[in-house]
Amino acid sequence: MKKNVKRGVIVLLICIVVLIGVIYFFPQVLYNSALGQKAILTFSGEKVATFYFKEDQTKMDTLYMKGIIYRNTHNDIQKVLNENPQVTTIAMIDVGGSIDDEINLIASQEIRKRKINTYLPKNAMVASGGTDMFLAGTKRKIHPTAKLGVHSWSDGTKGGNEYPQDHPDHIKYLEYYSEMQIPLKFYWYTLNAASAEDIHWMTPSEIKQYKIETNKASELLSLQKKMSSDEFLGRRTGNNLKTQDLIKSYFKEIGLRQFKNAYSSQFSFIEEQTKKQRTGTNIMGYVKGKKHEAKYLVIGAHYDHLGVVNDTIYNGADDNASGTAALLVLAKYFVKHQPEHSIIFVAFDAEELGLFGSKSFVQEPPVPLTDIKLNINFDMISRNPLNEIYVVGTYDYPQFKPLIQSVAKPSSLKVSYGHDNPDDTTKDYWMLSSDNGPFHKKGIPNITFSEEDHPGYHHPTDDFENIHPVFYKNVVTLIQKVIEKVDQQFPDNDLKLKK
Ligand SMILES: [Zn+2]
Repeated sequence: MKKNVKRGVIVLLICIVVLIGVIYFFPQVLYNSALGQKAILTFSGEKVATFYFKEDQTKMDTLYMKGIIYRNTHNDIQKVLNENPQVTTIAMIDVGGSIDDEINLIASQEIRKRKINTYLPKNAMVASGGTDMFLAGTKRKIHPTAKLGVHSWSDGTKGGNEYPQDHPDHIKYLEYYSEMQIPLKFYWYTLNAASAEDIHWMTPSEIKQYKIETNKASELLSLQKKMSSDEFLGRRTGNNLKTQDLIKSYFKEIGLRQFKNAYSSQFSFIEEQTKKQRTGTNIMGYVKGKKHEAKYLVIGAHYDHLGVVNDTIYNGADDNASGTAALLVLAKYFVKHQPEHSIIFVAFDAEELGLFGSKSFVQEPPVPLTDIKLNINFDMISRNPLNEIYVVGTYDYPQFKPLIQSVAKPSSLKVSYGHDNPDDTTKDYWMLSSDNGPFHKKGIPNITFSEEDHPGYHHPTDDFENIHPVFYKNVVTLIQKVIEKVDQQFPDNDLKLKK
């Protein structure tokens, strides 16, 4: 017995000596293993990154992260995201850096590949390798009280800024930032912002300069820009499949519900000028209301335009790529923020030829017309030098005016009412001139957002370059607030349909 104990002690001692020897002569064994990295971090009072949900969380779409990125972080991210496919955002609370830059970049690429957003919540502190991971978010947002830190790297002898710009050690970072579409000057800035031992907390203007946060308005504008680019050939009815595909795949991606297992709804009509039979396609879907499932708001905008006339493309950026892009981002918003009423989102075709898409919609509605409580239409909402948007329809449906006024008041827009009184000879009558017309003829309350005509109206100069982005963004925010307001405080008026 005694002999055995003695032998055990000797074996143990030899093991310890060998282990110390291995670590002394080959320290990378410690640095390049998950356990070793965990041990190093523990000795220095840090914790490895963990992912978790909060106890009081009602929606499990945000995953929280805390700790230092290490060898297992890529595996951990894969595992937690596979088990929780509903996660859309990683909120980084306290991620001071990474002990394994190689794994960090791979884990970050995984986040981008899965189109996950990143967020720095209130009082978050994220720096160094954590900052690199934050940049992997498809959409990135920083709470005003959160801190984002950067610094240079060091290989033990020299700092990153001491190597020439063409030194190969810079390449993996430059490739990473370019993959994440971050301006490359950001990298050179981090090398000079602070040494490897120090941290520089980014200022708001630096965050803006290096496009660290993604711009909220950018999706609206990029959709409008895309649909009004020459590739889309002016979206003429009969030649606008590309636009249809864009709208359908957008609806699919955001998870908008379908009527009869499809977003497309074809209709035929007789063209007024040629008397020929033509086909058009409305694209629609809906969000189920949580309180009034069988009462519908119909949010609509026409996506067709004039197409190519005498070899000139009429891009119709304002008329009505502006309304169509707004329709898409609003649909996305209301999928995420479930309304009380059900909402149908419909992109109408053949408006320019005589409102045929909306006529067909009210002739063969996907739900009974009596269940449609309001139509909100927008046609040309991105171009006005006077910052003025018209709300059309409150002359006939005054019950909506106070609700609209209450959300219009804090807006920086000039919100005007009119173009809806047939006796007002100072203004064109717009109640029948866009897709609200067929709803109005049926006696369905309708509100249209539109601006006064401009020199680009039905001209080849109705291009993206000529719109007013701030005005446009504000109009779309106003429309979103109006929809929320009427959804929550719908005026209780009985609806009498006209024959
Ligand atoms: Zn139009």
